[in-house]
Amino acid sequence: MTDLTELTIAQAREKLKAGEIKSTELTEAYLAAIETANAELNAYVKVTSDKALDMAKASDERLAKGEGGALEGIPLGIKDLFGTKGVHTQACSHILNVFEPPYESTVTQNLWNDGAVMLGKLNMDEFAMGSSNETSYYGPVKNPWRSRASNADLVPGGSSGGSASAVSARLCAGATATDTGGSIRQPAAFTGTVGIKPTYGRCSRWGIVAFASSLDQAGPIARDVRDAAIMLKSMASVDDKDTTSVDLPVPDYEAAIGGSVKGMKIGIPKEYRVDNMPEEIEKLWQQGIDWYRDAGAEIVDISLPHTKYALPAYYIVAPAEASSNLARYDGVRYGLREHGKDITGMYENTRASGFGEEVKRRVMIGTYVLSAGYYDAYYLRAQKVRTLIKRDFENVFAQGVDAILTPATPSPAFEIGDKELAADPVKMYLNDIFTVTVNMAGLPGIAVPAGLDNSGLPLGLQLIGKPFDEETLFKTAHVIEQAAGKFSPEKCW
Ligand code: GLN
Repeated sequence: MTDLTELTIAQAREKLKAGEIKSTELTEAYLAAIETANAELNAYVKVTSDKALDMAKASDERLAKGEGGALEGIPLGIKDLFGTKGVHTQACSHILNVFEPPYESTVTQNLWNDGAVMLGKLNMDEFAMGSSNETSYYGPVKNPWRSRASNADLVPGGSSGGSASAVSARLCAGATATDTGGSIRQPAAFTGTVGIKPTYGRCSRWGIVAFASSLDQAGPIARDVRDAAIMLKSMASVDDKDTTSVDLPVPDYEAAIGGSVKGMKIGIPKEYRVDNMPEEIEKLWQQGIDWYRDAGAEIVDISLPHTKYALPAYYIVAPAEASSNLARYDGVRYGLREHGKDITGMYENTRASGFGEEVKRRVMIGTYVLSAGYYDAYYLRAQKVRTLIKRDFENVFAQGVDAILTPATPSPAFEIGDKELAADPVKMYLNDIFTVTVNMAGLPGIAVPAGLDNSGLPLGLQLIGKPFDEETLFKTAHVIEQAAGKFSPEKCW
């Protein structure tokens, strides 16, 4: 038998069902892989070995009786943003020091109900604020990929950097992630994995630590399109505890894979041809266009005229909501408490030592744009821009476009500690240039590996779909996967 950790979710599912392998063996193989690699990659902040083995044993018992759910016995990694009952949940922040919630998030509960096994909690940017996983209280995550041009350690992207690194390095069969402005799709693109941010409302946000509530959505990072479809089917649900979750049946996403794209209209937005875009990204995009043309799709040039305002508007709306959401971390109810001479002093000391620099920056920006004199000029205007961005997409879809093809990121993975990016937060924010529009409009978007750059690093393409039309994204992304092949890093850990 080859290494069990090489099996995709779909492959492992068949072998488990047929009784060819046991979940306990599979889980042990992943725990051993984590043991070997995690000191180097720092993808997990907490490994729940005992819980994993207990869950695997229970799965094996169900499988032996011919029972079991859609993910029975499949070992997964969980982003530290998801509340997991009695297990480390800190959003990789010091302010949630030793927090173990007395509840389980709806998304993770859905996964356990379908038989999945929890390997542990995955590293991420603090409160999901970042594009490189360098803002984590637990330190940066390494991308398992290396450039042929240098031996430097690379970022896995962010904020779901631990999820992407763990999936790429075979430290879990698949992982949960969240995306507020690109945090599923950008790390997927940086690590040669597949990540889908579903339509806002497709997955319940209940029990997930809130960053920007009108933008946050959970989704999977997986090794291929099929595995992403399997995971999303389990994660998605309507939920009484989240009034923004939508009561629509969850389709069988896997069934959409392999369908023909003949006659479909794929839109190419001219506004995504940004200044200084590396030639390799431009080439990759053209390659994607050619693949669709060859598969019989119709390529149409489209315009999304308000695209250029998306990033600035996002960096008003997201910090505004974050400043409000993060007001609850005051040292009173849970997490860290630093004493002070009075209650105000206690609040101040707790928040000063509990939050990292990027989180403080966002809280300050958010408080500023919501303050009495500036609300209309910043927050209200950003909300209006958001409506215009949404309308751009509606117009294009009304013209019969089925999906929109863009690059996923403006560059491949960069070095950990990149000085230029560290010195200028706006440069870091520019990583999200192709992804934030999708969150602002509440649409689904998928990132799929499409090739390697000249130094051998993975690059991704993004497909954007109509609301609740994730099926088209799985179908169209699969065409790219078939043409480009799959990508895995050479073992360097
Ligand atoms: N990089 C973006 C930010 O820092 C997006 C983060 C996310 O999607 N969680 O806000």
